[in-house]
Amino acid sequence: MLAEFRENIYHCLKCGACRIAYPEYTPICPSGERFGFDSYYAIGRMEIARAVLEGRLEPGEKMAHRVFTCTSCGACEEQCRPAVGNRPLKVIEELKADLVEKGFVPANLRNFLKNVHLYGNPYQAPREKGGEWALGSGVKEYRGEEYLLYVGSEGSFDPRGQKIALALAGILQKAGVSFGILGSRENCDGNEVNRIGERGLFEALAEENIRIFKELGVKKVVTLSPHAYNTFKNDYPGLGADFGVVHYTQLIRELIAGGKLVPKKSPAARVTFHDPCFLGRHNQDYQSAREVLGAVPGLELVEMERTRRNSFCCSGGGGNCYADLLGGGGDRNPARIRVREAYGTGARVLATACPACAVMLGDAPAAEGLEGLIEIRDVAEILLEAL
Ligand code: SF4
Ligand code: SF4
Repeated sequence: MLAEFRENIYHCLKCGACRIAYPEYTPICPSGERFGFDSYYAIGRMEIARAVLEGRLEPGEKMAHRVFTCTSCGACEEQCRPAVGNRPLKVIEELKADLVEKGFVPANLRNFLKNVHLYGNPYQAPREKGGEWALGSGVKEYRGEEYLLYVGSEGSFDPRGQKIALALAGILQKAGVSFGILGSRENCDGNEVNRIGERGLFEALAEENIRIFKELGVKKVVTLSPHAYNTFKNDYPGLGADFGVVHYTQLIRELIAGGKLVPKKSPAARVTFHDPCFLGRHNQDYQSAREVLGAVPGLELVEMERTRRNSFCCSGGGGNCYADLLGGGGDRNPARIRVREAYGTGARVLATACPACAVMLGDAPAAEGLEGLIEIRDVAEILLEAL
């Protein structure tokens, strides 16, 4: 209920700190940069929430576009919380839930939700095709192994995500990790559904996943995506989950530290790392992926200006990896902005540790005229090549 966030809404100082990363003073909100009006930044969305709360503004399509183009990246909170002590993203997500309840959801996001509801994934892929990405790789369905490898919808069905899933599986095999996958029993984790505010569907997905995990006796999960990691770690325990979860970069860091994986070759000289929002800002892990990259001999890791807590979102969160509400926009497109920033460091590889980031950033080098000059790679792909 929006009314429960009255205090947050009225405590917005209209200072605009949520638009700019401190102390670099660089733009930080992907939707604001894409569309340019205050109503696409947290500052404007707080005003929209206040107007809705006071009954001065009726929900409509224009309002829904301004609200659902928020990618839940958390950058506004990262600026607002220390400066003002407020939680703008909490308010925006409550506003989304309010709009879902009133039936105002942009068509692309409605389709995303419908597909997840009907198919258990946003790709309209039949469930029985869930494990096809792993055919011929030697990866087996989960039967009580130490880890369940949860690859998620991109890892299962998106061609880019499938390559990353295979790279990760290859690394785990080389390290001798005991793991299995759910294959046709894998279901959407629901992180995006929850962030969009479709809470009924989220709870149904989570309860179903928890039931399957319990039935199979899963005690440890390793995820390909930071989005799944986020919801398994932070949302599922409140719904009765009793399994531990790590993001794959965390497990690999341990395997390298324990001598189970020894990177030997350098597949890329200069690399910069794009912090995925659901690994970094939402879960405070800025280090694992950097340590994995740092273990590759000869690899030079350089930082972009917007890094770690001030990372600039690729625009794929909040369901936008599928709905693409922030697509287009020429050189104001967030993925293109990010690729320009990465190229400016002198890096020739933009690394990330999230299949959604890899998908979102994937077309940006060509759009920027940088095809062949900078490559988008996942940490798992870089490491596998180095082993
Ligand atoms: S949301 Fe926070 S940072 Fe943004 S204008 Fe309001 S008080 Fe300032
Ligand atoms: S969460 Fe990200 S996209 Fe949403 S208002 Fe905040 S900075 Fe902008």
